Amino acid sequence: DDVEVAIKTVVVGYGTVGKSSMIRRHCKGMFTKDYKKTIGVDFLELVPWDTAGQEKFDSVTKAYYRGAQVCVLVFSTTDRESFEGKVVAEVGDTPTVLVQNKIDLLDHSCVEEEEAEALAKRLKLRFYRISAKEDLNVNEVFRYLAEKYLQKLKQRAED
Ligand code: GDP
Repeated sequence: DDVEVAIKTVVVGYGTVGKSSMIRRHCKGMFTKDYKKTIGVDFLELVPWDTAGQEKFDSVTKAYYRGAQVCVLVFSTTDRESFEGKVVAEVGDTPTVLVQNKIDLLDHSCVEEEEAEALAKRLKLRFYRISAKEDLNVNEVFRYLAEKYLQKLKQRAED
């Protein structure tokens, strides 16, 4: 019953989109909401990875991706470049979500709702709009990834 799975997670996106804030928010949430107990999953090594200016994946980046068990691709509501920078290849069958952070700044948005949704559709990724600042939807992201990952483990065990 007390088995706990640790998931190596990589949080990818341009500088200042809110990767660290998201991680901090999530870690806090795990304590306050007893998240670990209910799901039995911990996220190991939540590492923010700045991808600005890395259109080409070098071998280090590739190895890093390969080592991740789940992946969060983040862009910011207020940073057009962070949306356009296509750091989306290489995820393969790693459970991955697309995240739009800083949804509390929608009045200053640089990204149309439809184009964000279109991107998610094209990449076949679940899409979340979140605010690390206002604590909107952050834990939902990690909960979904945990479920996806556990599903994958289960399937592997059955195969
Ligand atoms: P990182 O470089 O991607 O890790 O980004 P940080 O987590 O360091 O955040 C960069 C800046 O954006 C900081 O000033 C944060 O306080 C701010 N920030 C992060 N998340 C949000 C959010 O959801 N809403 C708003 N308004 N600001 C945010």
